[in-house]
Amino acid sequence: MNKNLRTPCIAGNWKMNKTPAEAAVLVDELKAAITAPECNVVICVPFTDLPVALEKCAGTPIKVGAQNCHFETSGAFTGEISPVMLKEMGVEYVVLGHSERRTYFGETDVTVNKRTLAALKAGLKPIVCVGEYLEQREQGITAELVAMQTKIALQGVTEQDLKNVIIAYEPVWAIGTGKTATAEQANEVCAVIRATVAQLYGKAAADGMTIQYGGSMNAKNAAELLAQPDVDGGLIGGASLKAADFSVIVDAAK
Ligand code: PEP
Repeated sequence: MNKNLRTPCIAGNWKMNKTPAEAAVLVDELKAAITAPECNVVICVPFTDLPVALEKCAGTPIKVGAQNCHFETSGAFTGEISPVMLKEMGVEYVVLGHSERRTYFGETDVTVNKRTLAALKAGLKPIVCVGEYLEQREQGITAELVAMQTKIALQGVTEQDLKNVIIAYEPVWAIGTGKTATAEQANEVCAVIRATVAQLYGKAAADGMTIQYGGSMNAKNAAELLAQPDVDGGLIGGASLKAADFSVIVDAAK
C-alpha cells in the first residue's frame, strides 16, 4: 500500500502559547508521555521557547520546529528570524504559510514559496500549510484552490528537496473552531494535493510525500482521520498543548 511508503508525522503547533518556563513543564510532560513513537513527532514552538525545547528534546524522539521564518538570510528586516539562524540553533522543522499568518500578517502564496525555498536552502524541513476558507468550500473551489496553493508553494523546489517538504492540509474553517473536516473531506483534499505533486514531480515522488491534515484534530477524532489512505499525520494546534491528548494522537499514527 502506498501509505506504507511514508512515515507519518504528528506535529504540534503551539501558536503564541507558553513562556519558556511553561514550555519546560510541557516538554517534560511530553517526554514522559511519548517514549517510543512509531511516527515522526515534532513540536513547533514560539521562537522564545526554542532554546529550552531544543535542550530538553535532545536525545529524545521529539523534534523541534519553529512556526515561521523569513526568506532572507540576514539584513534589515527588524523583528524577523532567518532560516539560517534557526538551523544553527538545531531547529529541524518550520511551519510556513499557516492560515493565521496568511490572515493576520499578509502572508501570500508567493511569500510562502520564497520562505519554502529559503528554508530548504538552509537545511530546514518546511511544513507548508494550504487550505480553503468556508466560503471557498461553499463555492466548490476547494480542489482548485488547494492545488494552486500547492503549485505556487513548490515553485522552484527540486525533486531532491521535495523529500524534506511536508504539506499540511488545513481547512481554515476547521482551525481552532472545534469543527473538524470529516475523514472523507480530509482524505479527498489530501488526495488532491498528492495528485498535484504527482503532476509536478511524478507518481513516485507523490507516493513518498507526507501530507498532514490539520484542523481541530484531537484525541477523539485522530484515529479515524489518520486511518485515511492519503492522510499521513496531523498538524495539531489546541490539542498539542496537553501532553495527554497529544500523546494519544501520536499513538493513533502507528
Ligand atoms: C493549527 O494551528 O494548525 C491547528 C490545526 O489548530 P487546531 O488544532 O487548534 O485547530
